[in-house]
Amino acid sequence: MKIYNTLTRTKQEFKPIEPGKVRMYVCGPTVYNLIHIGNARPMIVFDTVRRYLEYKGYEVNYVTNFTDVDDKIIAKAIEEGVSADEISKRYIAECKKDMEGLNVKEATKHPLATEEIDGMIEMIKVLIDKGYAYNADGTVYYRTRKFEGYGKLSKKNIDDLEAGHRDEKHQLKVSGADSKEDPLDFVLWKPKKDGEPYWESPWSQGRPGWHIECSVMSKKYLGDSIDIHAGGEDLIFPHHENEIAQSEAANGVEFARYWMHNGFLNIDNKKMSKSLGNFFTVRDISEKYDLQVLRFFMLSAHYRSPINFSDTLMEAAKNGLTRIITAVDNLKHLMENASDTQMTDAQQKNLDKVNEYVEKFENAMEDDFNTADAVSAIFEIVKLANQTADSSVSAEYIKTVRDTIIKLSDVLGIIAEKEEEMLDEDIEKLIEERQQARKDKNFARADEIRNLLQDKGILLEDTREGVKWKRA
Ligand code: AMP
Ligand code: ZN
Repeated sequence: MKIYNTLTRTKQEFKPIEPGKVRMYVCGPTVYNLIHIGNARPMIVFDTVRRYLEYKGYEVNYVTNFTDVDDKIIAKAIEEGVSADEISKRYIAECKKDMEGLNVKEATKHPLATEEIDGMIEMIKVLIDKGYAYNADGTVYYRTRKFEGYGKLSKKNIDDLEAGHRDEKHQLKVSGADSKEDPLDFVLWKPKKDGEPYWESPWSQGRPGWHIECSVMSKKYLGDSIDIHAGGEDLIFPHHENEIAQSEAANGVEFARYWMHNGFLNIDNKKMSKSLGNFFTVRDISEKYDLQVLRFFMLSAHYRSPINFSDTLMEAAKNGLTRIITAVDNLKHLMENASDTQMTDAQQKNLDKVNEYVEKFENAMEDDFNTADAVSAIFEIVKLANQTADSSVSAEYIKTVRDTIIKLSDVLGIIAEKEEEMLDEDIEKLIEERQQARKDKNFARADEIRNLLQDKGILLEDTREGVKWKRA
């Protein structure tokens, strides 16, 4: 399997540190608002990478964080007159709902920056002890020029770097900025301002810089050296460059072997971002489309290419997805009536073709996760199924083709099977159970049943004649 490594700017054969296991870290969102569909791109793309690694038999330890302390969170908290904690908790919960809709698998560990402050203080202490960091009036800076490899990921020459560079996420305007030894030095710890959340530290009451968070969470949950570190391409510099400087200086070993970066999701050829205001939230899209459509749309392009969001492309994604789901559903009905006979030679030959398409799918994914080609391999199987499956062919053939489409779709995180409709009698049994639960004053169970039915699209109405139900 080949992965394009930003560090070497080449496609490289993937070899994990420990055979059979993959340690993977993906930088997560800052939680101060509903996520937009640009933020959803790395979630979908790297979840797909994970799924393919698992399909290949690797055990993947997948860690992705939430940045839950940040200037933007604090600003939003002040705006609403609530605590920063309330803002971040709210948007973590909302983000998890969106991720579920996008069929993004739960991470092995989803650390929160605010719960890892001790580890950050520890790493900063190590960096100070080793001479890579210094305290200036309560602000701790990283001594950028001391790290020899600085610039190796972003290919920036340290002497060309503009003084006082800033990134969108962390403007380095903090007190003590004047006492920096070098304009290139970046913040590891900064003192609180009035009313801001803070933690005790040897240097000041304050909070960590953004970059140190990921170095520490990655170390704690995956170890000093990891296989894959990933995120959007805007994170290459300075975020990932700074993570390397911190982790390698503190731990004395290579931080990550493969660096993967997704291209931007654009709108009218401009990066979708909150600051430009040209964004749709995942929630906006969910009002118009099943979120599976958004996932399918993202995978129709290579993850490193920019992708332009448009109604036309979303409609095309919707049609493509429907084609797959309809084929799988047709095969299911055919299977119910198909004969138990042996496969004919012709059917066997068609199955060989299916297997060739499976190989094509795998080859596409082996080549730096070319999901666009992987999707077209699935379409080839769908086309073959539509041409060759009818009520006269053996059930085994139909089942094999159907299972293959479902399995390959699942590697991409696409659910190809239509959700089973609930049978009337099952609905009525649940309604009876709910009535009993209410009589027993077990309201928790009663609500649970109502919600369960609601999820299946069954609406309940309490009338004088009893409970009535209908399908939404
Ligand atoms: P942020 O909350 O801004 O740090 O973003 C969280 C993740 O989303 C990072 O990996 C970003 O690189 C990524 N991201 C943000 N905007 C876009 C976009 N328009 N297209 C692709 N990825 C993005
Ligand atoms: Zn990060």
